[in-house]
Amino acid sequence: MVQLTCYGGVNEIGGNKILLEDQGTKIFLDFGMSFSRRALFFEEYLMPRTANGIGDFLTMGLLPELQGVYRPDLLEHAGKKPEDPEIQAVFLSHAHADHANYISFLHQDIPIYCGETCHAILEAVDEQSQRTLENEVLSFKKRPLFRVDYRNPPVKRTFHTFRTGEKIKIDSLEIEPVHVDHSVPGAYSFLIHTSEGTIVYTGDLRLHGTHSYMTEEMMQKAAECQPLAGLSEGTRVDTEHTSESEDQVFLKAKDKLQNNTKMNFVDFNFKDVDRFTTFYRIAEELDKTLVISFKHACFLEKYHQDPKIQAPASTDDRIMLLKPKRLTGTYSDEDYTDYYIKKRLDYPNVITAEECAKKPSEYMIVLNFWYFNQLIDMKPSGGTYIHSLSEPFNEEMELSYERMQHWLEFFDLHFVQSHCSGHISGSDLTTLLTMIQPKQIFPIHTEHPELFQRLPIKITTVTEGKTYKL
Ligand SMILES: [Zn+2]
Repeated sequence: MVQLTCYGGVNEIGGNKILLEDQGTKIFLDFGMSFSRRALFFEEYLMPRTANGIGDFLTMGLLPELQGVYRPDLLEHAGKKPEDPEIQAVFLSHAHADHANYISFLHQDIPIYCGETCHAILEAVDEQSQRTLENEVLSFKKRPLFRVDYRNPPVKRTFHTFRTGEKIKIDSLEIEPVHVDHSVPGAYSFLIHTSEGTIVYTGDLRLHGTHSYMTEEMMQKAAECQPLAGLSEGTRVDTEHTSESEDQVFLKAKDKLQNNTKMNFVDFNFKDVDRFTTFYRIAEELDKTLVISFKHACFLEKYHQDPKIQAPASTDDRIMLLKPKRLTGTYSDEDYTDYYIKKRLDYPNVITAEECAKKPSEYMIVLNFWYFNQLIDMKPSGGTYIHSLSEPFNEEMELSYERMQHWLEFFDLHFVQSHCSGHISGSDLTTLLTMIQPKQIFPIHTEHPELFQRLPIKITTVTEGKTYKL
């Protein structure tokens, strides 16, 4: 008998933690952080306390109460007894935080399986992030962390990486990762062959992106298995088919940028290598230099090393690294204590905001809202700002969005929205699930599970923490 329990991703976007049990074998599909649940209680200046370890997360329901899952150091810190791991593996579908980040709390002896590129992205995230309890995916420092232990090396988790087409045996289960197209490379669906039949876990995916053939390949393979059940994402189940595509983003952004001789800005998520490629191509075609941050360089270098991704080096002729203004404000080497910046200060293509301001028409600057104070040093006027991200979908984002508009007005920057989603539209999802034809569907990663009812397939609306037998 196969049992399925969802501890996250139920009536919410992300936070997936799906426990699958087959003849004593237990695995988790993703172990993500739920941004929406976290935002119920916490915000920028009201955070879960590191000083209380796992306690704040368990008490406020950000993590489920489970046996044999969590780090012994955190359990002991919370006054509980450490437990041996009862989970054989976690299969991580892709490197987005809402799928990956709460791996941070898992027992170090639970191995994590993910795609090679996914692992490289986790490394890039790790390289340029401050260590916190919520981003210790690759390695962690034992808590409580006393000053005397600061220099001790972190405990490394065991990661096993795969490529599409491989099959991984975990006792009675055989897991077949199949690549899919999403807004981050190294994204997978899983075909889980159990003693009762195959279960399909979609992860996050889409059919309108640059690599939709990968999702189609998955649909084909999944359909051949005549699956017993499907766990399907439904982020945009409430949308109809749109004409959005990466090509549209390229065409619109290029059109808006090409006749503008002022300093131009673009903002997109650097985990999205397709979007990076779009703006890199625009820079090439318009003969501009793409200015990125040192944080971006961490990602670009990982992409460049990946033979499957055709990305330029961070020292490419068309790329420059923007040196942030720190401490003394004089760009002195001693101002930089972050290792990810320090180790790149000698690159030949490092530039400051003031240097950009001298030749404004030469640069396309990748600038996220959180770094808008750098506009003060660049003094742009009359340029274009391409917002290549999703539009705000909650109150907090609305406030930042409004503030962003104030900055743009102040520097007379023309706002352009040009984006294409990482998630499948409702009508494409109907196509996908109708083709795969699982005997029953469990909608997850969605605020509208009821909209799945339009499919001619049995739909089981998931209750969090409830076990379903298959
Ligand atoms: Zn995702």
